[in-house]
Amino acid sequence: MDRRSTHQVMVGSVPIGGGAPVVVQSMTNTDTADILSTTQQTLELARAGSELVRITVNSPEAAAAVPEIRRRLDDEGCSVPLVGDFHFNGHVLLREYPQTAGVLDKYRINPGNVGPGARADDNFAAICRIALEHNKPVRIGVNGGSLDQSLVMTEMKRNTDHDLGLTSEEIIEKCMVLSALQSTEMAIEAGLGPEHVVISCKVSEPIALIRLYRELAAKSNQPLHLGLTEAGMGAKGLVWSAAATAPLLTAGIGDTIRISLTPRPGGDRRDEVYAACELLQALGLRAFSPSVTACPGCGRTTSTTFQHLAELVEAHIKENLPTWREKFPGVEELKLAVMGCIVNGPGESKAAHVGISLPGAGEEPKCPVFIDGRPFTTLKGNSEELAEDFIAIIDNYIVQRWG
Ligand code: SF4
Repeated sequence: MDRRSTHQVMVGSVPIGGGAPVVVQSMTNTDTADILSTTQQTLELARAGSELVRITVNSPEAAAAVPEIRRRLDDEGCSVPLVGDFHFNGHVLLREYPQTAGVLDKYRINPGNVGPGARADDNFAAICRIALEHNKPVRIGVNGGSLDQSLVMTEMKRNTDHDLGLTSEEIIEKCMVLSALQSTEMAIEAGLGPEHVVISCKVSEPIALIRLYRELAAKSNQPLHLGLTEAGMGAKGLVWSAAATAPLLTAGIGDTIRISLTPRPGGDRRDEVYAACELLQALGLRAFSPSVTACPGCGRTTSTTFQHLAELVEAHIKENLPTWREKFPGVEELKLAVMGCIVNGPGESKAAHVGISLPGAGEEPKCPVFIDGRPFTTLKGNSEELAEDFIAIIDNYIVQRWG
């Protein structure tokens, strides 16, 4: 599908916009000054499929750590571009840590958080000039929760003075788009080109996000970074993110996405990467990983064997995907099926590259396996034996087809 943005921004070696595939990005939640844990999490996110990783740069200690984080990533053979997330003091940190300004691949600037009053414009321009000096792009990241209040007051007054009848919600959305467009003009005035500016206007309500991005896409040709600013936890975060971004992505709006899930305490940060990849793959925009069709189960199968098997197959894919990608180019297209009974089992299994149909309640305890639509073998045994045999069949298929 054609993306709407016409300008292309290079972030390191990753193109954003201008017809490039939609890029997956994520953000660390470690203290950036903690070099070890930030490097480790960046590696994990990149290996999970994140094509850009953003890190917080909020203090001198964090800014000082960035070059060493970059060096350690390079030593690990990880070239993922690093994006610095700046609020309040970005103009100071980038000036005082030129090496950090040089190794970061993009600077994220929030126009609502660049400084107080009249100094905001100077600070914003200072960051743009540093970006120009180092030939780096910026993302102008407007957020509903940190919108430039002077702009809001001006638009509120205009609404009252001219009796425009806009609701406060409409005024906020209008201000967000205005802030993004005005900031883009300021970045261009500071010397950056259109090929150096990505825009985002993030809120936490899906319907508002859809309205905002339609408006933004109608008024700007810059590449757009898409996502809810705070998606929330678990099922809510996943569903709201999909509801907000899918209508836009299918309309060609959005050039890079982040799914901003709130992790459980101690949860896996990579979940936001897996979610973004699944979303783009579900929409047919990218292929990142083999897919597993598994039925939801019902009264026809009271055993949990097919659920365990589906889970083991998913885990096997996640564990091996980084290696598979290198050794077996094209493996992302693999389609697998793990089904619970004879009703839809054989049909879905035949439609996959490799599929297995487990027996439902009352069926003979055997599991036909299909490869490329044809019966291949029949497996029997307990769930461990089944898993071992089925995974061996999958591994063998991968080697035969993409090796
Ligand atoms: S395939 Fe069988 S077990 Fe699975 S949902 Fe359909 S009817 Fe139920």
